[in-house]
Amino acid sequence: MQFTEEHESLRKTVRDFVQNEINPNCDQWEKDGRFPIHEIFRKLGDLGILGIQKPEAFGGMGLDYSYNLVAAEELGMANAGGPPLAIGVQTDMCTPALARFGNDEQKEEFLRPAISGEKVGCIGVSEVGAGSDVAGMKTTAKEDGDDYIINGHKMWITNSPSADFICLLANTSDGKPHKNKSLIMVPMDTPGITVAPHLDKLGMRSSETAQVYFDDVRVPQRYRIGAEGTGFMMQMLQFQEERIWGAANIIKALEGCVNKTIDYTRERETFGQPLINNQSIHFRMAELQTEIEALRALTYQACELHVEGKDVTQLASMAKLKAGRLGREVTDSCLQYWGGNGYMWENPVARAYRDVRLVSIGGGADEIMLGIICKLMGTLPGRKQ
Ligand SMILES: Cc1cc2nc3c(=O)[nH]c(=O)nc-3n(C[C@H](O)[C@H](O)[C@H](O)COP(=O)(O)OP(=O)(O)OC[C@H]3O[C@@H](n4cnc5c(N)ncnc54)[C@H](O)[C@@H]3O)c2cc1C
Repeated sequence: MQFTEEHESLRKTVRDFVQNEINPNCDQWEKDGRFPIHEIFRKLGDLGILGIQKPEAFGGMGLDYSYNLVAAEELGMANAGGPPLAIGVQTDMCTPALARFGNDEQKEEFLRPAISGEKVGCIGVSEVGAGSDVAGMKTTAKEDGDDYIINGHKMWITNSPSADFICLLANTSDGKPHKNKSLIMVPMDTPGITVAPHLDKLGMRSSETAQVYFDDVRVPQRYRIGAEGTGFMMQMLQFQEERIWGAANIIKALEGCVNKTIDYTRERETFGQPLINNQSIHFRMAELQTEIEALRALTYQACELHVEGKDVTQLASMAKLKAGRLGREVTDSCLQYWGGNGYMWENPVARAYRDVRLVSIGGGADEIMLGIICKLMGTLPGRKQ
């Protein structure tokens, strides 16, 4: 990656925002189980951070994905994973397909206010019975004149309690599961939508997650992105940016854990000497930092090829897999060296331990990443070698 002055200037803008607007409030937001998402998004919108890679014609900066990566990395400096996750949903999960395949009318109505921070978005793919198996989802959108009537539910939807729109994956016909789905932009105040109370989670406490129900929800068909039946393909493409974002976002969070643990073990003494003087500890810190650099290199490579317009399905899946596994390894190892203090709820490494656990599950679990990588390696049983 060749970072320019523009990248560094954006990096500073995001870093300052995290330091001044997010970190002083994280502890309270974690206790509240939410954060003032509209207020924070409007401030981010004013700085252009919600539209880094989005078209200038709709208020975006029109930059390439490498700038998004820089922002995702810096957001990883937040003292809690919840706010960055909510921001990532807005920029890299519920709007990429809209920006790429939506028409001008849809972009005016949904993308422009998402970029300015006026509207909060969410992405509705998972269902109670269909998380990993996206093709098996049951929510339907049936044609009725010029409209769709939507029935079903979506599970674990980040941002949904505060969201103004949902980018919804629904079955628009009875055909083959990969060809019967469409992505539809649905305003959350449409009659028939109910958002359940937000879920009590292990981590990402300051981000709201809830189940969304659709009961005869009528929306115009003009809210469908692209041609009918192309939603699965668009969602798979949308997942690539989500996965690169997820990997990039965890890098500095993990470095933060290593650095905080180094500081702590320098101060904490056992048997008359600082903990860090034990070779098993300073060697472990070196190993973890090396692994983090390897994750960074992999993520940058995926990003670089994505910017060049190449298919990065395999590299993005590898980066996501590595991020999830390394996240668990780093936070678990670091927590160990904090001893009893590491087991306390408020401990920063304990919070990271809870927050990063999501990376191996959300946006495609580790095993789904392995399946994709195997498919592309030609090693899945029953497929041509
Ligand atoms: C905090 C949070 C926020 C989320 N936000 C959103 C959101 O905004 N929008 C959205 O649509 N979804 C969201 N999700 C849902 C998330 O994407 C799913 O939980 C995830 O895709 C896994 O689906 P599942 O939970 O149904 O697990 P399942 O599909 O039931 O799988 C359970 C486990 O089995 C294993 N597994 C699954 N399939 C295989 C296989 N073929 N081979 C081997 N092992 C396998 C994996 O380890 C997996 O974790 C969120 C989830 C959480 C926890």
